[in-house]
Amino acid sequence: MKRIIAAILLIIAIVSLTVVFFAFTQVTNEELRLRNDIQYRSTLLAESLRETVEPNFINKSEKYLQGVVEKYANKERFAGLAIVDNQNNIVAVSSTLPNEISEAQKIAGDVMDSDKANGDFVNFKDKKMYVFAVPLHDDKSVVGSLLIVQNAGYINTRLTDIWKTNLIRLFTQAFFLSVATLLILRWIIYEPIKSLVDSIKSAQLNTDNKKSVPNIPLFNPLIKELSNIQRNLTEARSVASEEARLRLEKVDSPWTAERLKEFIKDTLKGRTIIVVSNREPYIHTKEGNKISYYFPASGMVTAIEPIIQACGGIWIAHGSGDADKLVVDKDNKIKVPPNEPKYTLKRIWLDEIEEKGYYYGFSNEGLWPLCHLAHTRPTFRKEDWEEYKRVNGKFASAVLSEIKKYNKPIILLQDYHFALLPRMIKKGRPDAVIGLFWHIPWPNSESFSICPFRKDLLDGLLGADLLGFHTQLHCNNFIDTIGRELESLIDWEQFTVTKNDHTTRIKPFPISIAFYNGFHYQSHDQSSQINISNIRKQLNIKSEYIGLGVDRLDYTKGIIERFKAIEYFLEKYPSYKNRFTFIQIAPPSRSKIKRYKDFENEVVMEFERINQKFKSKGWEPIIFLKKRYNHEELNHFYRLANICLVTSLHDGMNLVAKEFIAARDDERGVLILSQFAGSSRELKDAFIVNPYNTEHMSEAIKSGLEMTPSEQIRKIRKMREIVKNYNIYRWSAELLKTMANLE
Ligand code: UDP
Repeated sequence: MKRIIAAILLIIAIVSLTVVFFAFTQVTNEELRLRNDIQYRSTLLAESLRETVEPNFINKSEKYLQGVVEKYANKERFAGLAIVDNQNNIVAVSSTLPNEISEAQKIAGDVMDSDKANGDFVNFKDKKMYVFAVPLHDDKSVVGSLLIVQNAGYINTRLTDIWKTNLIRLFTQAFFLSVATLLILRWIIYEPIKSLVDSIKSAQLNTDNKKSVPNIPLFNPLIKELSNIQRNLTEARSVASEEARLRLEKVDSPWTAERLKEFIKDTLKGRTIIVVSNREPYIHTKEGNKISYYFPASGMVTAIEPIIQACGGIWIAHGSGDADKLVVDKDNKIKVPPNEPKYTLKRIWLDEIEEKGYYYGFSNEGLWPLCHLAHTRPTFRKEDWEEYKRVNGKFASAVLSEIKKYNKPIILLQDYHFALLPRMIKKGRPDAVIGLFWHIPWPNSESFSICPFRKDLLDGLLGADLLGFHTQLHCNNFIDTIGRELESLIDWEQFTVTKNDHTTRIKPFPISIAFYNGFHYQSHDQSSQINISNIRKQLNIKSEYIGLGVDRLDYTKGIIERFKAIEYFLEKYPSYKNRFTFIQIAPPSRSKIKRYKDFENEVVMEFERINQKFKSKGWEPIIFLKKRYNHEELNHFYRLANICLVTSLHDGMNLVAKEFIAARDDERGVLILSQFAGSSRELKDAFIVNPYNTEHMSEAIKSGLEMTPSEQIRKIRKMREIVKNYNIYRWSAELLKTMANLE
């Protein structure tokens, strides 16, 4: 309140100074003008009278002179006239003038001395007068003076009026300005701030009646911050309630394939599920005459396969294996898993141009680096975009033809390859319930805004009824992006976006693995050709300690950063030389893309450089296995390692981290996990590291290797509980339940 009073006083002071300054200027100018006017009029009259007075004065006709002075007395503003001789004796004087006019005579004396007309202001009995005197002459010299006396009191009156008017103006302005200031403070500042405070309070109180942050352009920066705070509060609360729910549900038995099957029967009541992804779950290849198949190294496939195995249905995917066409029926379908069929895989064929533009180009040179903030510049080409649209259309036609005979089918679309598919399917089949799970991160709106085709992509995605992301942060980023790019109605409470009367729900579903009592691997994968149960022997490892990294060869995985940390670690702690070996499993990925090929070379050069630097007889610090292992084989690696390094620069989830935890039923092993991997939100008992901080990572390696067994047990037990309780069956149940509840 004090500040408001001070502000008002300041305004009044400024207004007062302004008014006084202008009033003073006006008074000065007016006074000058009135003085000039009175002088001018006196001069005119004096000059005209002098011609009449002068001859009569010389002829001493005093009577005539007295008549003249009486005639002009009291006319208009004239107070009177007087005539004095050169001895300053009064010859004639108007009766209106006071008896005592010595002040005026003094002026007449000066005028006669100087022989020059002059005037001045004098006071006659407290009345302000202006006296103007002109000299009178005979032929030779000054003989007297004519005095013209005018009332000048009106000048002061006029000036006083000006001051009065300005003072009234000052008070009026001060009053209205004070009132206006109070109103402005109330309407523009107090009320909006009050509603901002109310919205934050309502978020804090967690009432049902939440107030959204009002939209006031004047406070935009503040509103942005407050919206973030409100959102963070809501998010923190939902995380807390989710954790509380998880704690409660611990008493519940964990989800299994059987339980999911029952749940789906109950919830979906026989409705068909269609999964669409780019990568197929089984890839058939040919070597000579022999056709075999393998399960690809993909987090998405690892996660989705258990669902469709549990509930049956159709999986539509790109047939990318060189023997894929040889094993399908006339509808391009095959029952899988091949040795124990549980669902149908329908393969879509893409020609080279389509694959190049849609998969390698737009999806993996554009969207992948756009969404992973790993400092690789995205490339967007018009021709790739055209292929992306065409291939999305191709998949849409396949889906629409598959669902023809089904009522309200449930469609689960996978990943960034199909951003346009939801809208395309929805157009053809509004009754279909469409969910799309975005398996990679969603960047902040600023980063996303560089995509030239962003509006079409976003519009395509909003054709879905449900959009799933791994984390709440990715959901927030997505909604922010929508707010920035598209005209739509956003509900931050419900996390929905409504556009053209269709509402899309946005929700986090942290994906997981098929953990139940341990790591469930795909035992029907034919690619396991070697017995890897004795890895140490096969790889000739004699070190006491083993570290492990399992990643596709992708620049987002932080493999080089990890190698640098190992180098730093061995430099700083040389006692670990010959005692520590790091195994890096790195199946090549997207090798047709130059950036991936270059990255592969960089990784190879880096591990060779480090090995060269430290190697000794029979020992190299890094064993680099540039090949794909199946889950059964990976299980052996996971169980062998003392530490597992997952150091992605940015990763939606990273299932390897969860697989490592799941594989360790011996309750040993230490997970070193990047803070930028989605799984770090759940696996809080891992060593959380910043992959860009080499020194910190090397310290984590040391601490991990030196962690006491009891500490290892304590931490891994907690993480195993989390992965066990939130396994892929539960993930699917929650996703499908949310979709079923959308109608
Ligand atoms: N993977 C595999 N064989 C390998 C390397 C990896 O089967 O040689 C699997 C791994 O088990 C995991 C998936 O590939 O299930 C990788 O998933 P993640 O989420 O870690 O990363 P993404 O590759 O999906 O980016």
